[in-house]
Amino acid sequence: MRLLSFSTDAGESWGAVVGGEVVDLGRALPQYPALADFIGSEDFKRRDELVAAVRPSSRLAEISFLPVIPRPEKIVCAVRNYLDHHHEAVATGLKREITEFPPIFLRVWRSQVGHNAPVVRPMVSDNLDWEGELAVVIGRGGRHIAEDRALDHVAGYSIFNDVSVRDWQRHAQQIASGKNFVGTGPFGPWLVTPDEIGDPTKLKLETRVNGKIEQSSDTSMLIFSIPRLINYCSTIFDLVPGDVIATGTPAGVGFARKPPVFLKPGDVVEVEIENIGVLRNPVVQE
Ligand code: ZN
Repeated sequence: MRLLSFSTDAGESWGAVVGGEVVDLGRALPQYPALADFIGSEDFKRRDELVAAVRPSSRLAEISFLPVIPRPEKIVCAVRNYLDHHHEAVATGLKREITEFPPIFLRVWRSQVGHNAPVVRPMVSDNLDWEGELAVVIGRGGRHIAEDRALDHVAGYSIFNDVSVRDWQRHAQQIASGKNFVGTGPFGPWLVTPDEIGDPTKLKLETRVNGKIEQSSDTSMLIFSIPRLINYCSTIFDLVPGDVIATGTPAGVGFARKPPVFLKPGDVVEVEIENIGVLRNPVVQE
């Protein structure tokens, strides 16, 4: 099942995509004001039955996509978590080693944008770079989640473009400044539930800028696995429904090119992940 958050003239809601149509579950199930409330509930297990009972209310082409989870409590991003990206970063002269524990940072939800909404190149930088990533959306929360049970806590998988402002990312040892600008966190278009994703360790990922392939890899290149990331994050945080873990980006980012290549106003950046779909965003100038 594909689940999404969206807005129409009637306001913000969430629902399921059935064919080319949207079933408005936010209206049908008002006890769950947001998608995060639903995926953390017992009713999430009955989703097929619940969706079948509601008639679609709009066509997909008529809604505006919101970030899949518009206001997650936490967006945890894994850093340098693909072997191929690790090698390309080292090749640019960055001193990097594969660490014992997963390096992470936090992104604020206000930096997010939905599918089709513009990514914003900030006025203070032209070093705007793409990072196509598989996003894991937490359903059932918890702490100290064991790796062998970790996937039971996943409500679904989606696409995050961890668009980065590279020069700001390198102001200090901590990279959060370059990872939280307004309008730099495309997340969408929907989440796909685990029963329809196939094997999450074997998904092809491709990032295209103006149709040209810039990143082409698959999730088998992850250094820290999805269960390992969930275990690590839940050791620190109490994970709650709707929390997002962006699992890191593969090789092919713009800063690693000689000379570097960055996003500019007028570009269109797309991230496609097998069995999920395409997250597409134009770039505009602040
Ligand atoms: Zn990233």
